[in-house]
Amino acid sequence: MTGIDDLPIRDELRGKSPYGAPQLDVPVRLNTNENPYPLPEALVDRITERVREAARGLNRYPDRDAVELRTELGRYLTRTTGYEVGAAGVWAANGSNEVIQQLLQTFAGPGRVAIGFEPSYSMHGLISRGTGTAWISGPRHADFTIDVAAAREAVAEHRPDVVFITSPNNPTGTAVDAETVVALYDAAQAAKPSLVVVDEAYVEFSHRPSLLPLIEGRPNLVVSRTMSKAFGAAGLRLGYLAADPAVVDAVQLVRLPYHLSAVTQATALAALEHTDTLLGYVEQLKTERDRLVAELLAIGYEVTESDANFVQFGRFPDAHEAWRQILDHGVLVRDNGVPGWLRVTAGTPEENDAFLDAVRALMKERS
Ligand code: PMP
Repeated sequence: MTGIDDLPIRDELRGKSPYGAPQLDVPVRLNTNENPYPLPEALVDRITERVREAARGLNRYPDRDAVELRTELGRYLTRTTGYEVGAAGVWAANGSNEVIQQLLQTFAGPGRVAIGFEPSYSMHGLISRGTGTAWISGPRHADFTIDVAAAREAVAEHRPDVVFITSPNNPTGTAVDAETVVALYDAAQAAKPSLVVVDEAYVEFSHRPSLLPLIEGRPNLVVSRTMSKAFGAAGLRLGYLAADPAVVDAVQLVRLPYHLSAVTQATALAALEHTDTLLGYVEQLKTERDRLVAELLAIGYEVTESDANFVQFGRFPDAHEAWRQILDHGVLVRDNGVPGWLRVTAGTPEENDAFLDAVRALMKERS
């Protein structure tokens, strides 16, 4: 039988595995940081209307520049951050993964270097590799906050072309403060002009404000966002970025023509019309996230301070074994490979209760 490695694939892909959490059929799935609430029926109706309208024009290519969608995303950002963002400063693609890929294709690639501070979102490193970019794993403190002094040293040493800062960070939930971003931006620019990407996939769940206003006067700073989490639309595949309009012009050099289908644009526009309802669910999830933190601590677990819709908890002598034991109770959480720690996504109150029952039982079995 032919295996991948028998094919003439690129050397750097040899022996690697594809990204992906196990998709197991269990009653309670709290492993991929999805929003547990299905879209409200009124929004489903509006999507149907908008998509029906779009379907009538499917013989034509979609708006290549997605201007209406970028305008509405800009309005959403302006409304929720107080920082004025227009269509020219917004770009959208199929999930923030594609946004990140386009940024790396534009600003990194063969002979160039990207850095992230790990543990963090593993796709930053994987998309780097996929675009031929060398990947540097930068340090964090033991409490998972970014070690600014060590990070500055790493930036000075490796002179990266792209720096990833994830806030709130996945899988730890840790938010990054504005001073840290500014310090790393300045350190990066001092080493050589380079792009700093602040990945705010989970920012709507944070106790702290968005870092988006930092793009003012910093043309090499990009904030990436997604509709997969707060908008409860992971199946839609819509990510976006806000930056200086020059960055938006630059990514157009690599984007595939008509990359965002008319159906995607229509669906995202419908979802943006229902922002208030969707942000109401975010408030419920924040309350549930805080409850998970409080209850995990009460049971006797350690928890990393979380600003996201998930919580990192531990510590386990063997995290993978604990993951399996929780699964035996019908609850799927995520083992991100951080030694001693697991991650649980905030679900509905009922799902969270099932999770808490499982980890309470596990604590009893352990003691
Ligand atoms: N950034 C972070 C930090 C993430 O955790 C994720 C998804 N898990 C993404 C980006 C990608 O999300 P999407 O492609 O669905 O927008």
